[in-house]
Amino acid sequence: MNRTGRHFLQIPGPSPVPEAVLAATARQVIDHRSPEFGELGTRVLSKIRKIFKTEHDVVIYPASGTGAWEAALSNTLSPGDKIMTYETGHFASLWAKLARKIGLVPVIAGENWRAGVDANAIEAELRKDTQREIKAVCVVHNETSTGSTTVIKEVREAIDAAGHPALLMVDSISGLASADLRMDEWGVDVVVAGSQKGLMLPPGLSFNAVGPKALAASKSSDIRRSYWDWGEMLAMNKTGYFPYTPATNLLFGLDTAIDMLLAEGLENVFARHRRMGEATRRAVQSWGLENLCASPRHFSPVLTTVMMPEGHSADAFRRKVLENFNMSLGSGLSKVADRVFRIGHLGEINELTLVGTLAGCEMGFELAGVPHQKGGVDMAMRYLAETSAA
Ligand SMILES: *Cc1c(COP(=O)(O)O)cnc(C)c1O
Repeated sequence: MNRTGRHFLQIPGPSPVPEAVLAATARQVIDHRSPEFGELGTRVLSKIRKIFKTEHDVVIYPASGTGAWEAALSNTLSPGDKIMTYETGHFASLWAKLARKIGLVPVIAGENWRAGVDANAIEAELRKDTQREIKAVCVVHNETSTGSTTVIKEVREAIDAAGHPALLMVDSISGLASADLRMDEWGVDVVVAGSQKGLMLPPGLSFNAVGPKALAASKSSDIRRSYWDWGEMLAMNKTGYFPYTPATNLLFGLDTAIDMLLAEGLENVFARHRRMGEATRRAVQSWGLENLCASPRHFSPVLTTVMMPEGHSADAFRRKVLENFNMSLGSGLSKVADRVFRIGHLGEINELTLVGTLAGCEMGFELAGVPHQKGGVDMAMRYLAETSAA
């Protein structure tokens, strides 16, 4: 097992944590009822809105993304309510499963693991719902199991075209801060997000950005909840505090991570991710391999999912890469287990990290006996050199 140099964590989350963020978290814990904490809380809760492109409140939980999924549903809906989902992959399917477990009734508008949400299917299903039984449309922004990104604006337009009052809830756990998301402009009622992907933090924080329609719905929703309840949280947040012990040191890290993202400029952050995605796809194409996402308008800037040639194990290939080159690549999840591997190109990544990542893949194909054409790394390098800005 090769453990020299630094480990390449090229899975689509958790993503590598920048040194400055690590350093910010490596501090003595402070009293979460102290004036110092109140200032930290107030500062972070205010500036995180910029990352969601919202004027509204953002709730921060000491939980993984799954907790924030449950929070979004349980704060706005009531037992027996129907929600509309669209199965873009494993994560969309898991969110629907969670909804079922807490007493909701998911209606699946369609399924496609090789593209983003088909907004026309959502519109058609909503038009059929003349009794207005569907209370929310829940979609995944960036489907981390497949590498497809949904055009959220189209989903908003589909709901409006059907004249339907359902809330729009978006899981942007792996999209936020990597792929453009405009909560207010696109009329998203709740955004669910997590710390360990585009925000470049360790796992352990998750978010609900709450629009006014969702907040109003929370007043009458009666799924039982306590820990996840927005009411007490938002009341305490007004002065920068939390109803229970927050993940203080992750908030120190978040403070720094937001500053880094805003200093680079969100639009530059998104452009950097798009460029990494394009370079990766050129390498994949040149290897003669297939991208799981078959819809160019939905190509993800966050990750690329590569299909293995028939009869070759993605997990055996990933094991070779880990053992020989100290790099972790993402595995195929559920339906595509062992059939695909995922290259994360999000967060703390630049040209040379990506070229190293792609070189590890190309050498791994050789070692694992995966049929491919050489030269994928060259194609990526050529593209990165041609499009470098300075
Ligand atoms: C990572 C991820 C999740 C799950 O989040 P956890 O932090 O593992 O609970 C849900 N949805 C998407 C799109 C994700 O990428």
